Amino acid sequence: MLQTFPLARKAARWLSQAGDALASVLLPADCRLCEKLLVTGGRVPICEKCLASFQSVPARICDICGQPLESLQRVTAGTTNEVLHCANCKPPRFAFACARSLTIYQDAVVSAILILKYQRMYPLAKWFAKNLAELARQQGERFRADVVVPVPLHPSRQKERGFNQAALIAKSLARELRLPYRPVLQRIRERPPKKILSVEDRWAAVRGAFVTRPHSQVDNLRILLVDDVLTTGATLSACSRVLLDAGAQSVVSLTVARAAKSPVTRTSPATATGGPE
Ligand SMILES: [Zn+2]
Ligand SMILES: [Zn+2]
Repeated sequence: MLQTFPLARKAARWLSQAGDALASVLLPADCRLCEKLLVTGGRVPICEKCLASFQSVPARICDICGQPLESLQRVTAGTTNEVLHCANCKPPRFAFACARSLTIYQDAVVSAILILKYQRMYPLAKWFAKNLAELARQQGERFRADVVVPVPLHPSRQKERGFNQAALIAKSLARELRLPYRPVLQRIRERPPKKILSVEDRWAAVRGAFVTRPHSQVDNLRILLVDDVLTTGATLSACSRVLLDAGAQSVVSLTVARAAKSPVTRTSPATATGGPE
């Protein structure tokens, strides 16, 4: 309805901004990262300086998995239209066609994601989603999708935490992109309790860990898969494989953050890394 009436849209935006301003006056709060008083209106509990400090992903990245590339690893199609691939993607080892992230998983964004993960911070999920929608639009045709699907948590983990942070982001992103939100995946095997998993352990842990929910329909759909963090890409790849096997036409993925460096599995199988999957 709002799409058709610019005036109604304007009014809705004004009301939302007025609400934010009111909230900041009535409920003064500190930035959750640097603890300085939040002076601007808005429900995101992080100050503009901290938000601006999130490391953006460099321009030179792997065309498939989005891994930042320090040096030129492969150039094809001449010098004007170069396509770069990291060592994990030649030949491709991921089931998703393409993965992009908003930020590098370090410094302030690590704390921001922890806040989102354990405190169900809707405004922060919304802020991430807004920026992810912009990133998806920048990617053009490649990221044109039919549905938005979150990476699921195992039911016992979700029960313990009360919600799934990837679902919070995915729901908001679906709204931003005006696409249906479809939580069609289910995690049927838990992540091993070990805090630190080797790269090979991570791939083994997700093998057979996901299935599509009974009666879910993904035939011929272009899927936008959403998670909070990409570390090795194993989780996103396992989810993508399940969706493709269930009939999806293609899967591309968006995450809020990604590891600056993905360990290369084939040549260094035992590299231990911490953090989320
Ligand atoms: Zn701050
Ligand atoms: Zn790659």
